[in-house]
Amino acid sequence: MLLPLQRLWTSGSLGRNKELVERLQLYGIIKSKKVAEVMEAIDRGLFVPPGSAPYVDTPILIGYNATISAPHMHAACLELLREHLQPGMRALDVGSGTGYLTACFAMMVGPEGHAVGVEHIAELVDFSINNIKNSAASSFLKEGSLSVHIADGREGWPDLAPYDAIHVGAAAPEIPQPLIDQLKPGGRLVIPVGTVFQDLQVIDKKMDGSVSIRSETSVRYVPLTSKAAQLHSN
Ligand code: SAH
Repeated sequence: MLLPLQRLWTSGSLGRNKELVERLQLYGIIKSKKVAEVMEAIDRGLFVPPGSAPYVDTPILIGYNATISAPHMHAACLELLREHLQPGMRALDVGSGTGYLTACFAMMVGPEGHAVGVEHIAELVDFSINNIKNSAASSFLKEGSLSVHIADGREGWPDLAPYDAIHVGAAAPEIPQPLIDQLKPGGRLVIPVGTVFQDLQVIDKKMDGSVSIRSETSVRYVPLTSKAAQLHSN
């Protein structure tokens, strides 16, 4: 009997992560080499609870009424923000959850940049820091260009503002003004907006400080809300 060589070569978790990235490239969701490289380097399997299926294109429950977003959403947001995640730039990830996207941001902006995660559930912040420590982004955490904070992300993270890129991983009823204020001229904010029906909105701040807003696609995210409301929703 012939050995299934392909399966043998890709049986490790990094191999399966690579296959996931290749599928996202095939479907045209990953468009650039940079995003492919980063998603290959950051193994999604290190960011999900034990026993879940990380290499399937679906969101996964992570407790506290939160989910890790589906890989195609992570890929789409990385592509939308790619030009604003160049080496040395600053990125804010609101509702950082598992830390997956914060780790990707850190890989893109590099040691001279800053990737900041803000998450209001303390246990998820601990979980994300552990995940990042096990990942290819661990050195950024150690050296301080990546940090994750317990805070209400609707206020942004003024300490490191202004940001070239802001991503929000939870749906807001309307765009929080502090996030627009903390965007650098030339910067981009990607945020799901809405309650039942949500749009992924792309907000570009022009050099004169004015903003343009467009809707990219319909999406479904958990709400950007208070900690009490999140923990009591069901
Ligand atoms: N990008 C993350 C998404 C996690 S789900 C990932 O893929 O892992 C959305 C996250 O937003 C949850 O972890 C939730 O706890 C968090 N969240 C919701 N409202 C928030 C708020 N007001 N401030 C900070 N985090 C918030």
